[in-house]
Amino acid sequence: MNITPKQILKALAYVDDPDLKKDIVTLGMVRNIHIEEGSISFDLVLTTPACPMKDMLKSACITSIHHFIDQGLQVNVNVTAEVKGTGGKGVYLQGVKNIIAIASGKGGVGKSNIAYTIAKVLSQSGASVGLMDADIYGPSQALLTGTADYKPESISVDGHNRMIPAEVDGVKVFSIAYLVGKSDPIAWRGPMLSSAIKQFMQDVEWGNLDYLIVDMPPGTGDVQITLAQSLALTGVVMVTTPQDIAVSDARRALMMFKMQGLQIPILGIIENMSWFETPDVPSKKYFIFGKKGGQLLSEETQTPFLGSIPIVEDLTGPSDNRDDSNTSHSLIYKNVLHITGQMVREIARVQSGKSPQPI
Ligand code: ADP
Repeated sequence: MNITPKQILKALAYVDDPDLKKDIVTLGMVRNIHIEEGSISFDLVLTTPACPMKDMLKSACITSIHHFIDQGLQVNVNVTAEVKGTGGKGVYLQGVKNIIAIASGKGGVGKSNIAYTIAKVLSQSGASVGLMDADIYGPSQALLTGTADYKPESISVDGHNRMIPAEVDGVKVFSIAYLVGKSDPIAWRGPMLSSAIKQFMQDVEWGNLDYLIVDMPPGTGDVQITLAQSLALTGVVMVTTPQDIAVSDARRALMMFKMQGLQIPILGIIENMSWFETPDVPSKKYFIFGKKGGQLLSEETQTPFLGSIPIVEDLTGPSDNRDDSNTSHSLIYKNVLHITGQMVREIARVQSGKSPQPI
């Protein structure tokens, strides 16, 4: 039987992207079709290498070809990704496709740990990723990433001096702490603060990035507004713990990002420190800080709920999240892997102009 590319496209047009609610052919995700005797191959181009539906889409393609064309055909689907760029009003950092702010209403809810882990998950999926520590009140990425002694070198790019980020686990990292050292963050208050931050944002040489994760300062002050206004953000992720006080601060912070003039897409809410479980009886969960505060906030504000993370015993010490042993870090990593998948799905929806939906 002679198979034509048209037949293949027709069969693949039955496969829908569940988030974008359109078929993969209309979305331009099928490319480079090759037909040989007894086999066909094509590229399936996703919007991100971190797409959690990769395997599902691939097997739907194979099933569709077998069903509509020939059961015995060998089908090779080459899954690749082309990360799309987005950004609202504000400064585009050259070469950076998506800037994602990880924010919280209150300090100490785990925002920095989560920002770092999201960056690692994205990087390990194959994306090029940067992590910017903009939490001037408690810059902790330098410690978390083991780069506290990093002294950024400057190079001249198009006549501007730019600082080179550190690199850890394939993630480019820059912290405001590299500049102020261990000195008191009070030095960063005052009328010059907003312009200093804007400058700082533009002075790092990120190169080409699919995602820049920004660890924001907690709360709703001038600095947060300046950052949100000056960066062309793809969206913001809000981290909270289940307690009422944390949820109420997160609500206020959400409102800030949604307010007129900013109107930044909220990609979703993460609830951290949701429960505690013991390794011997993992089925028994203890809800030490209350139950579902983040989930209720997501329902109330009609914002996607990206997922929850348990309380783990000890987050200090080196973090090698790639092993499968049930260490604290790998427990966090497992949950953040799921959360990041939900987050990139939400980015795809925002980019396609679809309103947020509960996940
Ligand atoms: P933030 O950036 O919101 O201030 P951090 O990420 O610095 O928060 O975390 C605050 C503290 O809580 C750190 O000591 C961190 O190790 C700890 N922590 C964060 N998430 C968890 C968790 N899921 N379980 C246990 N400890 C956590």
